[in-house]
Amino acid sequence: MKRDKNIVVVCHCILNCNSKVEGLSEYRGALDFTKKLIDNGIGIVQLPCPEMMIYGIKRWGHTKEQFDNPFYKTQCKNMLEPYIMQFDNYIKNGYNIKGLISIEGSPSCGYKKTCSSSLWSGELSNCTNLDEKLSDVKCIDEMGVFMKQLVSMLESNNLNIPILCLDESTLQESINDILNNLNI
Ligand code: SF4
Repeated sequence: MKRDKNIVVVCHCILNCNSKVEGLSEYRGALDFTKKLIDNGIGIVQLPCPEMMIYGIKRWGHTKEQFDNPFYKTQCKNMLEPYIMQFDNYIKNGYNIKGLISIEGSPSCGYKKTCSSSLWSGELSNCTNLDEKLSDVKCIDEMGVFMKQLVSMLESNNLNIPILCLDESTLQESINDILNNLNI
């Protein structure tokens, strides 16, 4: 059997930037570094994009506080359950899930950084404090809502998968760190 049994799990938009909020993506389709994974015999599992599935492609950019509600969290849990079962089955059968790559700054998929504002909500057409709302949106050192659910499910299933952070604000540096961590 020729397979290497090595797997990397990626947040959806690493392989398909079309799922991102329009205007955010600075790459055309998939991030190039994934070719290195393929060239090194690593299989890639792509997680679902929760924001695309729930809000669609015409959504505005959101903050963590908007997604931190029971419906969104339950939907994330439901989306992730089949993946947790796959990870468990792979690991118990000798496969190596070498890492899971986050998207830093995302209100859903950030691991160390997420987008936050307590003011970012409400009707915009007659909003009298739009500047205040806009300037309140910031990056904070917390997990996004989808990632928090994922980490909690990994822990409760005793699945030890390193989380590797992809930060598009320092893209090449974070890709280098990820490839170093994966020993490729
Ligand atoms: S960061 Fe997560 S929620 Fe945002 S586009 Fe990528 S996969 Fe979707």
